[in-house]
Parts: sequence; structure tokens; C-alpha cells
Amino acid sequence: MYGEYKNHLVKEIKDIREGGLYKEERIIVSPQRAEIELASGQKVLNFCANNYLGLSNHPELIKAAKEGLDTHGYGMSSVRFICGTTDLHKTLEKKIAEFFGTEDTILYAAAFDANGGVFEPLFTEEDAIISDSLNHASIIDGVRLCKAERYRYPNADMAALEEELKKAQKNRFRVIVTDGVFSMDGNVAPVDKIVELAEKYDAMVMVDESHSAGVVGATGRGVSEYFNITGKIDLITGTLGKSFGGAIGGFTTGRKEIIEMLRQRSRPYLFSNSLPPMVVNAGIRMMEMMSETNELQDKLHQNTDYFMAKMGKAGFDIKPTKSAICAVMLYDAKLSQDFAAKLLDEGIYVIGFYYPVVPKGEARIRVQLSAGHETKDLDKAVNAFIKVGKELGVIK
Ligand SMILES: *Cc1c(COP(=O)(O)O)cnc(C)c1O
Repeated sequence: MYGEYKNHLVKEIKDIREGGLYKEERIIVSPQRAEIELASGQKVLNFCANNYLGLSNHPELIKAAKEGLDTHGYGMSSVRFICGTTDLHKTLEKKIAEFFGTEDTILYAAAFDANGGVFEPLFTEEDAIISDSLNHASIIDGVRLCKAERYRYPNADMAALEEELKKAQKNRFRVIVTDGVFSMDGNVAPVDKIVELAEKYDAMVMVDESHSAGVVGATGRGVSEYFNITGKIDLITGTLGKSFGGAIGGFTTGRKEIIEMLRQRSRPYLFSNSLPPMVVNAGIRMMEMMSETNELQDKLHQNTDYFMAKMGKAGFDIKPTKSAICAVMLYDAKLSQDFAAKLLDEGIYVIGFYYPVVPKGEARIRVQLSAGHETKDLDKAVNAFIKVGKELGVIK
């Protein structure tokens, strides 16, 4: 059998390659941080990690991870409800709820699992899930696993959301689902308006804060802080893999009965292993750092403002954003790839995105700012953008 199947795969892979969609891995031989070393020996400034607060290689988290390893060992060899729950897991769940101003939290191995396991236990074919068209793949997959009726509205389009809410009045329960920050444009979802519509049309609200937690809002508490609506979002999902240390892990936090039900019925929680104690202990320390000081959030916001202002002044076409994602619009797919390659030669590591990751004719370079960047790093990046931009005729 395999011979024939192998030929099929070889052909499909060739098509992927010829379509220019083949994904390569770039090998890094240093820790994740502002300046990384590649296997080629080249040292580059990293502007494509989700390391928004610069915590991926933070000494406090490394120390806490080692302590967790020493006090609670390496692995749990169990799911949470059999023998995979330690005092550390409970503490981290409590700290995440405190951070977001919610009632309770359930941890998962990843945010992908949190989103994969949130809909099916809570909603049935009688209910409605109303989802933003640009929501993350894990939300789309989670919705697919659930029998609820599906409604979709174009990205952040509140008039369209209202129409869907009207249609969904026939359903028993309604939930509106959105990313907090959309990863390709860096725009913040209008969650204040979503909450208003939810109140008007009797719906619940779920926000995936993976790209917004730690970033959006004065102290990084996400969209609830940014829009001053703490307590009005019924369900928040998020990751420990971006701002919050960048290792692994996800969570759902929100109303306590919802979390209680997820502990009874959420399949990735019931049937997948518990997070290792070292990751959980580092997560606890991370949450403590978040409440001790806003230094990292302040630095991230300053860095973002600084970079955006300089790039705008240089004449680049930049999407307005309140996140740490800066989309430098180039529109042409090939140009985005050539631009990114030339930036790498200048020691700046960014990724160019084009169709189908973004709409046709909207190719761009995505720059992700971090509290781990220093002003000199930002200057180096801006200067490289200006040099390459002039070479390629993007700016004058
Ligand atoms: C990154 C991301 C995820 C997945 O997070 P993991 O913890 O890596 O699985 C889920 N949702 C959104 C919106 C994300 O940006």
C-alpha cells in the first residue's frame, strides 16, 4: 500500500513547494531572546517571536523552573483528575484568575487544547456560537468539535455581528467568540462593543487573550483592562507560550460554574497529561512578577510606540494597532519575501506573510516588539528597514 500512498504525498509536497508555501525551520542555537544565534553562526535581532515581555529567557523564571524541578520532580505521569494535580497547579490557577479578575481557572497543555476543549462540553445543537472570521485555528477546530449552530461575522464588523445575533435569537444560548488581538494585523477586537451587543441580545462573551494578555492594557491585563470591562467577559482563554514566559501551557479562566463544568467534561483536560511542575512553578513566579511591577509592560509599550513612530516617519505604511504587532504593508507577495531576506542579511529577523495567510494583495512584514529589545535594537531595525526599503523602492 505505502508505495502508492508515498507517490501521492511526494506529489502533494511538490505542489506545496511550487506554490511557494513550503515551510522550513530556521535552526536557533542560543536561548530565545532579543539577539539569537542561528545554526549558520549568524547573530540576528529577533523581531518574530511572541516573546512580548522578554520573559522567555528571564533568570527569575529559569530559577523558579529549577526549584519546581527540585521540589516536585520532572513529570506527573498522569492527567489532572487521577494523580496529576499538585499544590503548584492549584496556585497557578488561582493566580491566573487573580490576574484577569475572574473566578476560577483550568490549566491545559496548550491554548490549542483550551480552545479545543471549551465548546463541546458547554454547548449543544440547541445553542449558537458566533465567531469572528479571523479567529485562531484552535477556535475554529474547537467549534468544529461542538454540535452548536455556527454563525460567522467579518473581522471586527459590529453591524454584521448584530445581524448574526438577531438570527441566533432562535437558539437556546448564545456565545460570541473573538481573539483579543488578531495576529496578522495586530488590531484589538472591539470587545467593549461586543459586550454591549451581548447585553442587548442576551449572549455570553468569550475572548482568546493569547496575543493580548501581558500586552494590551496599562498593566497587561488584556482587553478587559483596555476597555475597562473587567468581570463582563464570561470566558477567557490564553497561553503561557507567548507573553507569559513562552514555554508551554494554556488556560481557560472565567465564571466558576463554567470552569467547574470544564473540569468534569473537557476532553483535553480529562485525557491529556498534566503540565510539568517546573513549567507551573515558573508560571507562578511569572504571575508574581506581573503583580509586583509594570516595568516590562511599560517598556513594551514604549518600545512599540517608539518603533511605530520611527517607521511611520520613514514613510512606511503601517497598520494602526494597540498591540505589540506591527504590520508593515508591502502588498506584493514576492516583495515581502525579498524584503525579509534582505533584512536577515542586515541582521534583522522578521517574517513576510502573504496569501493565504493574509488576504490576496495584502502581503506584509510582521514585526513583533518585545520588552527584551533595547532602543539600540529598535534603531538598528528601523535603519535596516529604511536601507532595504530604499533599495527595493518601497520608500523614497
Ligand atoms: C498562539 C495562539 C494559540 C495557541 O497557543 P498554544 O498555547 O501555543 O497552543 C491559541 N489562540 C491564539 C489566538 C493564539 O494566538
